[in-house]
Amino acid sequence: MARIVMKFGGTSVGDIDRIRNVARRVKQEWDAGHELAVVVSAMSGETNRLVDLCRQANPMHDLREYDTVVSTGEQVTVGLLSIILQSMGIEARSWLAWQIPFHTSNAHSNANIENIDCAKIIERFQSHERQVAVIPGFQGISPLDRVTTLGRGGSDTSAVAIAAALSADRCDIYTDVDGVYTTDPRMVPNAQKIDKVSHEEMLEMASLGAKVLQTRSVALAMRHQVPLQVLSSFEDKPGTFIVPEDEIMENADVTGIPFSKAEARITLNGVPDRPGTSALIFSALGDAGINVDMIVQSRPNENQATEMTFTVTDTDMDRAVSLMEERQNEIGYQDLIADNKVAKVSIVGVGMRTNSGVAQTMFKALAEKGINIQVLTTSEIKVSVLISEDYLELAVRALHSAFGLDAPAA
Ligand code: ASP
Ligand code: MG
Repeated sequence: MARIVMKFGGTSVGDIDRIRNVARRVKQEWDAGHELAVVVSAMSGETNRLVDLCRQANPMHDLREYDTVVSTGEQVTVGLLSIILQSMGIEARSWLAWQIPFHTSNAHSNANIENIDCAKIIERFQSHERQVAVIPGFQGISPLDRVTTLGRGGSDTSAVAIAAALSADRCDIYTDVDGVYTTDPRMVPNAQKIDKVSHEEMLEMASLGAKVLQTRSVALAMRHQVPLQVLSSFEDKPGTFIVPEDEIMENADVTGIPFSKAEARITLNGVPDRPGTSALIFSALGDAGINVDMIVQSRPNENQATEMTFTVTDTDMDRAVSLMEERQNEIGYQDLIADNKVAKVSIVGVGMRTNSGVAQTMFKALAEKGINIQVLTTSEIKVSVLISEDYLELAVRALHSAFGLDAPAA
């Protein structure tokens, strides 16, 4: 007997037939004798609809009332799933966040989880009916007893937090894909499903562009060492296991190749090489809440001027450019170039810690295709390069083959 948290996303509960399918998956685990908490999202499209209603009511709405509205999507699906489970003879009940209670901070629309008291849920697991707990993702309760939400896509994080609070053996994230892939299979058709990946690699992959799991949920799983599995709600087969690093025996050099097109590059030319300029540039951006990702500075030329290049997300580009333009005299740069036709491609793998030469293989593969690297950053387990968006697909395919990730021809 194990204690398992099962999480189902919006498409998995998109209509009554799909909720019946979810109930069937729950029944399989229940019949196997497990203790189960099931976390569900709102029906697909529902949260968008609710957000839009708030905007129509008043674009400047009170975020406490926004949370009151948008948290209702999950209230519907927990009730419906409980009704269906009960009709199949399974003892089940829904729990809203305040009933658990699932405590969060007061930061409405983007609250942080504070603590979850699972005592009542565990008591019912241990009753002779073995009650299934059906729990809404995304919602919590504030210190002032108001309903809160965790930010869009937050139900993965709810599920992991519940798994940590229950000391669950595993948290299974059911979704519309059958696992985590070496790269996006829509771009590289011979991408392969990964059987096992470490929390740390998954965290890098999620934050560098892999979209299967919310980054925050992976960080939480890593902190609490919760084993995760990402699997399909529509197919009966194992998915990808995300586990502590010491449970992985052999490490390939590179596990995955995430990428992102949502990048923009800004270059300031003729920046005077004197103390304080970097502080001026990056505090202006930081104060405006703009995250800077990659940074490179060239060596000063004969006029003691350097070139400063950095990247931001493409949605922040226009704001970053106007902040720089407002401060042109203060910073003292000559001209500015902004480009959002750039993309970031990364290689991720814990094997990089011990195996040398991984970065060279990457640069060589890109050079062979004539792809220029504009900016480069590294960490212990990843290398990221910024390239022209036009070469993205070529780069990802070349790297995927260079690191031996292509599926063998069928
Ligand atoms: N229903 C919420 C959203 O769409 C939370 C989630 O599904 O993860 O953002
Ligand atoms: Mg772009």
